[in-house]
Amino acid sequence: MEEFLNKITTLKEYLTGAPKRIAVVTHTNPDGDAIGSSLAWAEVLVSLGHEVSCLVPNRYPSFLGWMQGVENVVVAKESQELAAEKVAAAELVFIMDLNKIDRLDTLTEAIEANTTAPRILVDHHLSPPNDYTLQFSYPDLCSTAFLTYKIIEQMVGIDSISVSIAENLYAGIMTDTGNFAFSTLTPDLMRAVAVLLERGLNIPKVHTAVYDSYTADRVKLLGYSLCHKMKLLEEGRAAYLSLSEREMRQHNFQLGDSEGFVNYPLTIVGVKISAMFTETRKFIRVSLRSRGDEVDVNVFARKYFGGGGHKNAAGGKSFVSLRETIENYKKAVAEFLPTCDLKD
Ligand code: 5GP
Ligand code: MN
Repeated sequence: MEEFLNKITTLKEYLTGAPKRIAVVTHTNPDGDAIGSSLAWAEVLVSLGHEVSCLVPNRYPSFLGWMQGVENVVVAKESQELAAEKVAAAELVFIMDLNKIDRLDTLTEAIEANTTAPRILVDHHLSPPNDYTLQFSYPDLCSTAFLTYKIIEQMVGIDSISVSIAENLYAGIMTDTGNFAFSTLTPDLMRAVAVLLERGLNIPKVHTAVYDSYTADRVKLLGYSLCHKMKLLEEGRAAYLSLSEREMRQHNFQLGDSEGFVNYPLTIVGVKISAMFTETRKFIRVSLRSRGDEVDVNVFARKYFGGGGHKNAAGGKSFVSLRETIENYKKAVAEFLPTCDLKD
């Protein structure tokens, strides 16, 4: 706690005095936690008088389109020049919900080129590289949104939390905990949610906006994926789903449509690890999930797919065909599961 408060003191020093131009940057394929924590933090910075731009490498999914402030987020892939300008002009850069800036696609170069702006990390992923000016890195926390809440609480106080800050933080917490289902829940988190409620949060409104806003195509794609593309391996201990570019096209695939599919096989009794493979033009995107302490998919992702993440949610990329990627996964689980301490 003392270490955290010392960091808050340093953070305050960066944010007091003359207004600054600030860039708030988050990861590729931004999710609810990435966008929610960025927007909430940006609102706080604006309230302190700063000029703030939120930037993402590529577009956020449409089910986050309701979030207040999201319309001002600069999508680097679509507004290359504007994004480069904003990063170059920044006097301070916040890196939200990722640990390595090499996961920022085109924004990576722009950030590296700006050698004068201090970089401040606000994140909950494991193993950050330790090369930030100031580093809020707390892998035990469920979400960057919860970490952002803690920073706001200590830096400006909970009375500064507006309804939109409360909603954006809650959206991040809700999505990164699988709607309060994962093992990262703590009494402290629930107290924070209670405060967000006191500040005007409407939980059903946020829940509906995020989870009940799918297109019919998306719901049909889920049905197709589960019915035709879900396979079980290793006597039902491992599972995977895969979607080729062609299958996605046939279902009018929109960015974010397959988000969450990887969780479904874990609802089958006995399944310990689930993977989802989605084909893109350049590589196969790999998403991995597990539950509890038995299988650490962060270790699995690092070992077999050059990626990483958390114990129960990780990802990576594969640069061979979809078919070969699946073969590699089959071999990987056959090798990895026997090294895990499985309870049944
Ligand atoms: P998702 O399956 O939702 O894309 O990703 C789950 C988690 O895995 C994310 O929190 C993210 O941190 C991590 N992750 C996904 N893809 C990669 C990757 O290519 N590299 C690393 N290091 N982590 C990833
Ligand atoms: Mn997160």
